[in-house]
Amino acid sequence: MAKTKPGKKDLDSYTIKGTNKVVRPGDCVLMRPSDSDKPPYVARVEKIEADHRNNVKVRVRWYYRPEESIGGRRQFHGAKELFLSDHYDVQSAHTIEGKCIVHSFKNYTKLENVGAEDYFCRFEYKAATGGFTPDRVAVYCKCEMPYNPDDLMVQCEGCKDWFHPSCMGMTIEEAKKLDHFLCSDCSSDDDAKRSLNAFPVSPSVETKVRTLSLAPLCVVAGFFLWCCWKYYGECDHFSLLARVYNAENALPLQ
Ligand SMILES: [Zn+2]
Ligand SMILES: [Zn+2]
Repeated sequence: MAKTKPGKKDLDSYTIKGTNKVVRPGDCVLMRPSDSDKPPYVARVEKIEADHRNNVKVRVRWYYRPEESIGGRRQFHGAKELFLSDHYDVQSAHTIEGKCIVHSFKNYTKLENVGAEDYFCRFEYKAATGGFTPDRVAVYCKCEMPYNPDDLMVQCEGCKDWFHPSCMGMTIEEAKKLDHFLCSDCSSDDDAKRSLNAFPVSPSVETKVRTLSLAPLCVVAGFFLWCCWKYYGECDHFSLLARVYNAENALPLQ
């Protein structure tokens, strides 16, 4: 009679070797990279299972660091920023070396102290195409950059936009001492009304005034060329796409 191979068994948890830290499905973990010079990989555990020899494996969904993405790290990416990818894998549970917390962008900006285990995620990332969801993000300041939570910004009491001190010709120390701030456009406007609100120190995540397209340059350029070919002569399409293309191109890479 043929022997039936015992099936895999789902586990509720796994205790990280040499620690008392318990990992459960849904938790975020740090995984040992094959190259020990590199920072640990970050993943979300989807499933934990043991085979008939009691080898524990985890099904994970990888987080990508900005430098691992097709578009690379940009000026507005935070030091602790991660993208939730559509890339899944099965790994030995032995490669888990610790736990971490991947916060929403909003919660991350509210943290009093950012610990080594704190990360944040505001975009989902398609590993094959380099595409982001959402594919647009609000921009601030004269430099029209998305908010990097590592950078201090000051809010103008006139137009309510947020500004980098350096873009306004100030040092960070000077900006921290400010009780009131008017940007160069508003301070030249005599009718600017002073707000009595408390002076906030970082942009609200909900504020969406202007946005930046996050499609990778190759996709935007390809789409642009395709549209030139398809809609040649239709000026509306042409100028709209040219604006998106230019906005993307205008971004400093580092
Ligand atoms: Zn700026
Ligand atoms: Zn202003």
